[in-house]
Amino acid sequence: MTFQTALAHHFPSTLRETDFVARTYQTLLRYGFGQHNTMACAGVCRDEISRPLASEAQKAWGKIFDCSSLAGMLFLGKTGFRAAQHHAPQIQGRERYVYYAFPHIAFGRGGEPGVCYRPGRSEPSGACGALIAFRQELERAQPPANLDPDDLELSLLRQRLRLKLPHGEVPSLIDLTRLAYEAILEDLEHLLALTVDAARSDYAVFTGIQVHAPDGSNYVWPGVLYAVVGGKRQPISVEG
Ligand SMILES: [Zn+2]
Repeated sequence: MTFQTALAHHFPSTLRETDFVARTYQTLLRYGFGQHNTMACAGVCRDEISRPLASEAQKAWGKIFDCSSLAGMLFLGKTGFRAAQHHAPQIQGRERYVYYAFPHIAFGRGGEPGVCYRPGRSEPSGACGALIAFRQELERAQPPANLDPDDLELSLLRQRLRLKLPHGEVPSLIDLTRLAYEAILEDLEHLLALTVDAARSDYAVFTGIQVHAPDGSNYVWPGVLYAVVGGKRQPISVEG
């Protein structure tokens, strides 16, 4: 097994992160979104290897509102979402928002899930570290259910992902990453329903899973992608 065969097996239709962001931008141009009239938001893991997705989006859209928490979970809530929306340009009474929301996973040179090589570190490490930590807790016993003020984001991640877990099973890291993706998509759509007025705003949702290659480059497995323009949902494709 190599990284490429693991990628093709677990995440078919994956594309390079730079191509993914470029295609989302190009596609949205035809729906009236552009750098001059749109507030872009990115929720990725706090891990520095996740940052390039947000940086690419910032390059494309000119600015980025940071929605990031551990594992890419969206813990900024209504207040965070409303803040970003209130910073959007108003063009003829209309506002436009774009959301990129992604958990992440690394693969090693032999296609091992979760294995990550970081510059300057002699031993391989893990990504996503928060999901790996949660999974290890599940393997040992039931992870703590309380909200630990000294570990707020991991506490919230445990509470949120526990709702998605198959009963009595410890998912593989790949499956846990997919569950995180589902939770992030659900939370994104829930927060958008609570905060967006589609009568005066258009928005786009770009979700999926960010994948780190052993050479340090990033890929994106595209999940649910769409825009809502004039209240109407439009599917978005990033296929070449
Ligand atoms: Zn992470």
